[in-house]
Amino acid sequence: MGLKVKINTVIVNDINKDEIIDFVNLSKDKNLDIRFIELMPIGAAKKHRGTSNEEILNIIRENFENIKEENKNKRSGPADYIKIENYKGKIGFISPMSNCFCEECNRIRLTSTGFLKKCLHFNYGVDLKKHLDDKISEEELNKLIYENIYDKPEKHLFLKECDNKENKYMNQIGG
Ligand code: SF4
Repeated sequence: MGLKVKINTVIVNDINKDEIIDFVNLSKDKNLDIRFIELMPIGAAKKHRGTSNEEILNIIRENFENIKEENKNKRSGPADYIKIENYKGKIGFISPMSNCFCEECNRIRLTSTGFLKKCLHFNYGVDLKKHLDDKISEEELNKLIYENIYDKPEKHLFLKECDNKENKYMNQIGG
């Protein structure tokens, strides 16, 4: 039906590094994209160390010869892509830790509890469900959403100490 399938994977050191080439090979015969996302220290992930995308790219380069970089377009979001000759799908890299792209981020997240988060890294935002329970108007709702989008933080501070860090797990915040 023309759907584009993307498989996102996070490589955690010593757990699934050996599987990088297996992931890449999933794109050989099928037109699906495999995307490597650097581990962000949120929730359970704080206990682990991720593998940088530079390291993953080096491993891929050691195993494949004809690789070309794809031009970036607006629809590719934060991912940089490469293509391996004769492979149907592409390989993408999303590198929030080694190459912060927050300044281009337009993402907000609505959790299953109705809380609108401005950013994965911080715990603040607005409890939309509470406002909806209080029967605010559609106009007021739109205003709240706009205000929170325009008030997104400049960038994450994963590698620094700061207040308001998110302590929930990724599956609780829709990461
Ligand atoms: S601003 Fe927040 S949600 Fe957006 S890319 Fe940065 S860390 Fe992720």
